[in-house]
Amino acid sequence: MGSTETARCQACQAIVNPAWATCAACQKPLIPDWLAEYRRLYALVCDLQPPDPRYAAIHQALDACDRAFRLRDTESFKAAVRHVEAVMAEPSRQPRQAAPEAPPQPGWIVAYRDQHNRLHDGTVSRCEWDGRSGTVQLTNGQSIAIAQVTAVAKTNAAGQVVAAWDVRRHGLDGQRGPR
Ligand SMILES: [Zn+2]
Repeated sequence: MGSTETARCQACQAIVNPAWATCAACQKPLIPDWLAEYRRLYALVCDLQPPDPRYAAIHQALDACDRAFRLRDTESFKAAVRHVEAVMAEPSRQPRQAAPEAPPQPGWIVAYRDQHNRLHDGTVSRCEWDGRSGTVQLTNGQSIAIAQVTAVAKTNAAGQVVAAWDVRRHGLDGQRGPR
C-alpha cells in the first residue's frame, strides 16, 4: 500500500492513511475499504476449481469473510483473509495421474500446431502412444506428434462432438483437472 494513498475516516471524514488501524483525528478504528478488500480476496481465489483439495477450506474461509463483513467485524474479516492467504499458499496437492492417459481414439478430432505455430485440426485415424510420446495419424494422411496436439474433441458413433478439452489443462484423455 503506497504512502500516498488516502481515504476518509467514515466517522469524522478526516483524511487518513488507509494503512492506519485508527483515525489520527478521532481515534476511532478505521473501517476498511470493503470493496477493495473483496477485490483482492477474489483475485487470490479466482482460479480455484472444485477438484482442488483447498476448495472446501477456501469456501469456509470466504463464508467467514462474509459473516465478518455483515457484522462489519474488521478483526474477524482480517483473520479470515489471512486464513484464505494461508490456504492458497499451500500446494494444490492435485492427485497424481494414476493410470496412463488414453490417446485420442479413431474418429475423434484433434487441434494441433504445425512447425509454423499455425493451428489446424484433423480427424484421428489411429494413434501410436507409449504413454510418453507418440504420433497421431490423421484421416487426411498427415502424421503429427502427440506433443503437437493442443485440444481434443471426442465424438460419438454418429461423428458428433460430445466433449472437447484443452490438452494443456485437462490432459490428452480429458481426465485431468476441471472438466
Ligand atoms: Zn476520524
